[in-house]
Amino acid sequence: MASVFDDLVGQEHIIDILKGAVAASRTGSESQEMTHAWVFTGPPGSGRSSAAVAFAQALICPHQGCSTCNECKSAVTGGHPDVEVIRIEGLSIQVEEIRELLTRVAWAPSMGGWRVVVMEDADRLTESAANALLKAIEEPGTRTVWLLCAPTLHDVLPTIRSRCRHLQLRTPSIDAVRQVLIKRNDISPIMADFAARVSQGHIGRARYLATNESVRSNRKAIMRLPLQLGSLSAAFQAAQTLIDLATEGASASSGSKDEIEIEKLQEAYGKGATGRGMATGAAKAVKELEKEQKSRATRIVRDSIDGALLDLATFYRDVTLAQAGDKESMINSDMQPEIESYAASFPAHTVVQKMSAILEARKHLAMNAAPLVTCEALMCELARR
Ligand SMILES: [Zn+2]
Repeated sequence: MASVFDDLVGQEHIIDILKGAVAASRTGSESQEMTHAWVFTGPPGSGRSSAAVAFAQALICPHQGCSTCNECKSAVTGGHPDVEVIRIEGLSIQVEEIRELLTRVAWAPSMGGWRVVVMEDADRLTESAANALLKAIEEPGTRTVWLLCAPTLHDVLPTIRSRCRHLQLRTPSIDAVRQVLIKRNDISPIMADFAARVSQGHIGRARYLATNESVRSNRKAIMRLPLQLGSLSAAFQAAQTLIDLATEGASASSGSKDEIEIEKLQEAYGKGATGRGMATGAAKAVKELEKEQKSRATRIVRDSIDGALLDLATFYRDVTLAQAGDKESMINSDMQPEIESYAASFPAHTVVQKMSAILEARKHLAMNAAPLVTCEALMCELARR
């Protein structure tokens, strides 16, 4: 029988725990057995939010997560009254948003089972937002289950994490990702192999790469940047190229969504309808929405630049492997000749320095450093002989 847990690649160790919790939640002994707050952690792409959503489905499904009934389906699409998935658009979750959420989930679950809140980016809670949430988590005897997701346990406020049960997801193996792409997404074995290898266990990214020609060609262009750093001006050019490619990739994924959202909002206000009050209300709402979209776009571009830097790091990783004589474990085997000639012309210790420079740049970007300047500094470092 199909199950909502089928899609959790390489996470067998937590699936048993989740199934056990779902079974315990049905025993009817006054929610005694049920843990009300959980934290799902794992590296990007390990599927922490997918795991949390699958758990939410299993909790509200009459068949413990069959993946085919109305409950299971509506829980994913946002149509289930007892399941709320919080995906944040901006860089942080503000206390106002949490207060609003708490009033929304204050009443008992409509279906008589559980009310489940999945928070995808619990690491982006501001301190005051986290404190507001803490009060709700501490409240005894509720039928609400909180599923928080974050990269590591360290990213969640200690007061909150001490009240949660912790589940750590693993990075799925390349082989597991390859199998899923072939079996579930009908992707050819050669493409699945390439996508699984270069995305290093990040299932969402692997799927995106495997199904998008333009994403693949952008990645290719980024991976060739280390070969084009012959001069200082070339380094500056490479930084601009990286930013352009990352921005292009980001806007491709968010641009059409923006337009649809604005159109929907205008429709809600009766687009084309006459009446002054209506028009100013709509204009204000559109302005608010545009502000949110801008904040989301910034975040997507930053994530995209970070992804490009991770890709670049795999080039230098492969160079160090080539220098050590290991060709088997190369990620970018399609670039093997270029990687080998690079390995022959740069001393090993400078390659390691370049890898640390990429790591540094990612840290700076995570702390909101200006992207172009950060990448220019990085490329100058990478260009050094
Ligand atoms: Zn179901």
